[in-house]
Amino acid sequence: MSKITIAIDGYSSCGKSTLAKSLAAHLHYAYADSGAMYRCITLYALRKGVIKDGSFLPEEIIKLLPEIKLSFEFNPQTKSSDTFLNAENVEKEIRLMVVSENVSQVSAIHEVRVHMIAIQRKLGKNRGIVMDGRDIGSNVFPSAELKIFMTSDTDIRTQRRFDEYKAKGQNVSFSDIKTNLLSRDYEDTHRKENPLIQASDAVVLDNTDLSREEQLEFVVKLIHELSHSKK
Ligand code: C5P
Repeated sequence: MSKITIAIDGYSSCGKSTLAKSLAAHLHYAYADSGAMYRCITLYALRKGVIKDGSFLPEEIIKLLPEIKLSFEFNPQTKSSDTFLNAENVEKEIRLMVVSENVSQVSAIHEVRVHMIAIQRKLGKNRGIVMDGRDIGSNVFPSAELKIFMTSDTDIRTQRRFDEYKAKGQNVSFSDIKTNLLSRDYEDTHRKENPLIQASDAVVLDNTDLSREEQLEFVVKLIHELSHSKK
């Protein structure tokens, strides 16, 4: 089968990136984390002092867009791609809680979305890509050959994120993480433009009780079925 486009969307902290990365490695495809792009804009705006106490003027963020250059580079140590903001590796910083707390509001700005979606489509123009996010199957690549919509129990998602923060030595409480996940889910599903929705042709993957290996197996099986149906 020739290279296809794979879109993985779903709620916050469902393990989309983990699955997307392992799938990309398995298929020798490119991987793109669209959430990281929105996080970079948010981080830049925070650094510039445009976001103050959780509020900002959208036009101040829009003004910053031409100054922001995003890129991704494979990191052989972690065997995954790192996110660069104006040539600086910000992979760790974009995951900080303060970024998570502001990113959904930033990503709801029309001009931010237009800018990001153009970059995402450029990254995927030759197919052979796994991209994860919120609107990849429904909006960025509506004709993607395979669309997965991921969901998972909220407490399980919170626990996974809690363990990640702990492993990185960051002290964030379970309840703060849960509040952030739920509020991002609410904002992402209720925004006017490109909200998080399940594309009508997406396959649902509830990974509450599935290991990483089982999730990969599930999607690889779908790809095999797809390749047979194309023959
Ligand atoms: O995937 P991640 O949790 O890193 O995404 C951070 C935020 O970026 C999401 O909560 C959402 O507000 C925004 N996002 C988006 N569209 C995407 C990917 C992420 O609006 N395709």
